[in-house]
Amino acid sequence: MKRKTKLIHGGISTDPLTGAVSVPIYQVSTYKQEGVGNHKGFEYSRTGNPTRHALEELIKDIEGGTAGFAFGSGMAAITAVIMLFNKGDHVILTDDVYGGTFRVMTKVLNRFGIDSTFVDTSNLDTIVEEIKPNTVAIYIETPTNPLLKITDIEGAARLAKEHGLLTIVDNTFSTPYWQNPIEQGADIVLHSATKYIGGHSDVVAGLVVVNSEKLAEELHFVQNSTGGVLGPQDSWLLIRGIKTLGIRMEEHEASTAAIVQFLTNHPAVKKVFYPGLESHPNHDIAKKQSRGFGGMVSFDVGSEQKADKLLQKIHYFTLAESLGAVESLISVPARMTHASIPAERRAELGITDGLVRISVGLEDVEDLIDDLKQALE
Ligand SMILES: *Cc1c(COP(=O)(O)O)cnc(C)c1O
Repeated sequence: MKRKTKLIHGGISTDPLTGAVSVPIYQVSTYKQEGVGNHKGFEYSRTGNPTRHALEELIKDIEGGTAGFAFGSGMAAITAVIMLFNKGDHVILTDDVYGGTFRVMTKVLNRFGIDSTFVDTSNLDTIVEEIKPNTVAIYIETPTNPLLKITDIEGAARLAKEHGLLTIVDNTFSTPYWQNPIEQGADIVLHSATKYIGGHSDVVAGLVVVNSEKLAEELHFVQNSTGGVLGPQDSWLLIRGIKTLGIRMEEHEASTAAIVQFLTNHPAVKKVFYPGLESHPNHDIAKKQSRGFGGMVSFDVGSEQKADKLLQKIHYFTLAESLGAVESLISVPARMTHASIPAERRAELGITDGLVRISVGLEDVEDLIDDLKQALE
């Protein structure tokens, strides 16, 4: 099955009972048992729900793993994955990881004795330097947010295997349509499905796929024990979103390429961050491990004042956090998504006050370019 077909026919795509071509929303918490323990595979909806199960089978198929899991948000998914570990364990993470991931590792999970170190994983040597006797996993986000840095997934996974560590990849920005980390050696891939997978700014959700029965069993135990599951309505919305993921990503990609070209040639733009640019430091790795470069672009206009002026004049790009939706979004990471990262650390990472991040939507690209043109004047 080719990729676009799998998005529509993967997992469980019809209802065997009625022939409905869309999996029904099983709005139910419990299931009748014919006798004690004699049921049709579902007992209680925290443990398993048919609509959520259909979504979990689908994401498993499109990421190419052993089992899928749906959570109430990307952060619930990330937290559940880290709960696979124990007190005293240590995780190495990408330094410009999603702000919420940084926060949960350093302000919540640290209180349960899980230690973390943040390094520039786009340089594999820096990972090796941080491996300690209690290190259990390498957690990478690629491309990163907002600087679109790229980590070599295959290289990181090889390194992890050599040291007996798990490789976890946050694949939110690339989506399973462009990038499949498990095929490149990762053990666990996760998503904020709130973004491209949902795609319509109408659902908050998280997805995880693991590559072994052992991890599947362990993660199901955590999911069922801690209970951060996705409800049936939202599971259904994600199944619907996934059906158009392929055509949406193709269109995001084409529009983004045109916008990147426009921004690169604009005198008011100091620097453009996009893995599809040949000048991007890890362009070759991005090309090797992903079939597309995605719809996220960051660019530096030089100062907070200039960024504010752009925001005042822009019309079609909605000022909002989040990304990956049909509508184009714009944000200033230093004061929005990355505000929880201390100012000095932001400076270290290169998240300047003039940095603007856009998520290119599905509007007509000519309108989007005209809009950027007038706003940059
Ligand atoms: C949004 C996001 C998250 C968190 O997901 P939520 O659905 O908002 O909880 C994690 N990682 C990345 C890369 C994100 O963009």
